[in-house]
Amino acid sequence: MADALLGPAEIRELAARLGVAPTKKLGQNFLHDPNTIRRIVAAAGLRPDDVALEVGPGLGSLTLGLVGAVAHVHAVEIDPKLAEALPSTVTAPNLTVHPADAMRVRAADFDPAPTMLVANLPYNVAVPVVLTLLAELPTLRGGLVMVQKEVADRLTAGPGSKVYGVPSVKLAWYADAKPAGKVPPAVFWPVPNVDSGLVSFSRRRPPAGDIDRSDVFAVVDAAFAQRRKTLRAALAGWAGSPDRAEKVLVAAGISPQERGEMLTVEQFTAIAAAAKLSAVGGKLSASDRQPEEVDS
Ligand code: SAM
Repeated sequence: MADALLGPAEIRELAARLGVAPTKKLGQNFLHDPNTIRRIVAAAGLRPDDVALEVGPGLGSLTLGLVGAVAHVHAVEIDPKLAEALPSTVTAPNLTVHPADAMRVRAADFDPAPTMLVANLPYNVAVPVVLTLLAELPTLRGGLVMVQKEVADRLTAGPGSKVYGVPSVKLAWYADAKPAGKVPPAVFWPVPNVDSGLVSFSRRRPPAGDIDRSDVFAVVDAAFAQRRKTLRAALAGWAGSPDRAEKVLVAAGISPQERGEMLTVEQFTAIAAAAKLSAVGGKLSASDRQPEEVDS
């Protein structure tokens, strides 16, 4: 039987007993509202045979909700004091605590292999944590994360939206993502000065299996580094020149006058594919280069 969920009094008492002073640097805002915990666990769409990966269990609020819902929970916590205290708060036998930085974990660190990421993420590293774990852990079939509302909007935005950008396209490469609700500041201690949002995602097949993710992401990074420019201009540095960018874009069936913020992840992948087709030995072919660049 799982331990009871933590309310405001229990969170204060636990923090005082452990001598925990929450830090901004580690994004430490702890949940103290059992209803929000139940809401997160329900929205995650967990199956009893799932293995949950929780990044940043903190004082254990969400961990307590997860251990009763899945077969196993891996909790990765960077703060040694919190990691050490967690097994006393959550006494369930199906919990493994990993005192580690979530940005540095590897698939081999987890047995059984995680299938779902469920976390109230440290807000300053939320996007890199989600993208790194999706890359590192192919067994993850999806997840539900709580992030700053503004970041939730970015992660789930589609082409044409003002907040569509690098995080939106990169997450779309791995997964179908959708907003799963807003969470008010009052359910945290200390109270943050921003709203929070839930993002649910489920892994999808990569847009084109034979194009390397890093090649697609290089196009995405270049396109959004100068998001107000046309793709012809924005991709000039990446392709070698505006003319070469235009050639690749036309070959990919995309107007060189278009802007990156209008493209789907499939279209970014088509650009990477067109560049690969015109490449020799990893570079654009000699016939595509400017005269001064042609090998002697
Ligand atoms: N899950 C808890 C809750 O809902 O009450 C705490 C969430 S708090 C927003 C974020 C937690 O992530 C903190 O416990 C913090 O110490 C931890 N953390 C911050 N950076 C981390 C990292 N790189 N890897 C693992 N944990 C991290």
